[in-house]
Amino acid sequence: MSIQLLLFVDERPSSHEHIQEIQQYFKQVKADSPYQLQVIEIQEQPHLVEHFRLVATPALVKVSPEPRQTLAGSNIVNQLKKWWPRWQLSLQQTSPKPGNNGQTQTAPSSHPINSLGHSAELMRLSDEIFRLNREKEELVQQLKFKDQVLAMLAHDLRSPLTAASIAVETLELAQNHQNPQRRATLKEQLYQQARRQFRIMNRLITDILQASQTMNAELVVHYHDILLQVLCEEIIEQYTDLFAEKSLTLVKDIPQDIPPVYADEELIRQVIVNLLDNAIKYTPEGGKVTVSVLHRTTQKVQISVCDTGPGIPEEKRERIFEGHFRLKRDQAKDGYGLGLSLCRKIIRAHYGQIWVDSVLNQGSCFQFTLPVCR
Ligand code: ADP
Repeated sequence: MSIQLLLFVDERPSSHEHIQEIQQYFKQVKADSPYQLQVIEIQEQPHLVEHFRLVATPALVKVSPEPRQTLAGSNIVNQLKKWWPRWQLSLQQTSPKPGNNGQTQTAPSSHPINSLGHSAELMRLSDEIFRLNREKEELVQQLKFKDQVLAMLAHDLRSPLTAASIAVETLELAQNHQNPQRRATLKEQLYQQARRQFRIMNRLITDILQASQTMNAELVVHYHDILLQVLCEEIIEQYTDLFAEKSLTLVKDIPQDIPPVYADEELIRQVIVNLLDNAIKYTPEGGKVTVSVLHRTTQKVQISVCDTGPGIPEEKRERIFEGHFRLKRDQAKDGYGLGLSLCRKIIRAHYGQIWVDSVLNQGSCFQFTLPVCR
């Protein structure tokens, strides 16, 4: 039985001095109990640093006899002076006949310190396997989801594409119209129609591209099948008091047969909470807030948070989602103008859309869509 010590050092030149100081100390006290000291370069064994949760070097860890103890910092020898006699005592208590041949050594492979290293390595590897399995699972889900998004995009593009091609075909027929004035008006209308449909297609494609960029950037999304009716009810429940405080009426239109959506529950919670917070913040006392969920197409579910507040001027309906933007009239209310931009980022990362419909002085309706699970 011996006192087993690990001395963790880094690459700094002072580390060498620390090793020498400690060895010197053992010489001075003539190491009257058997001990084993192993010097570990932290950059070579980072998993051991993690295993012993070390936050500073040099660090001297007593691994045996139990309990484990760590001395760290530049005054290890001073600390050692205090602890060494106690460690000796606890060694005598755990082993009745201690030997007397202290030594500093490099451990052979059967050495207990090495087996400690192996078990730390094993732990690290099993953590790694667990992490890789989880990542693989997520990647498989994401690939499936990308397929679904492609299908959605193809589906969404079909109607503007059809409308645009009908407009172009009709243009050909319009060329032959007898009445020149009628011909000119018809042509103008059809060009307009075609341009409008191309803009819609452009928007759809840009949204998808931006969403994939956001997803690849910092937002980490953990997709699961989630039931919006349950999530909405859960959130609304927590708002009862806030509604009462401002004498606001809450109307819910949440059918129970809404299919599950493929989304990150916590992120979607953030979106709904943000929209509800805004509705309460900007709607005057006595107003009404309506939360509704609608199964809009076979592919999408639409969630709306509508209020009877001041509304948003048309020219600002896009800007409020851009971040750091607040309407002048609302500067006095608290907030940083970040909530809606985060909502947009989250919804885009889900390949959904978010927008506001509004009538000035009558209210706003913030709406977003999410893809249905297949
Ligand atoms: P914040 O509310 O913290 O200022 P947001 O990003 O959530 O930031 O909103 C941006 C701006 O949009 C707000 O400052 C406000 O001018 C306007 N806004 C948001 N929600 C509503 C609402 N429900 N009714 C009227 N204006 C709103």
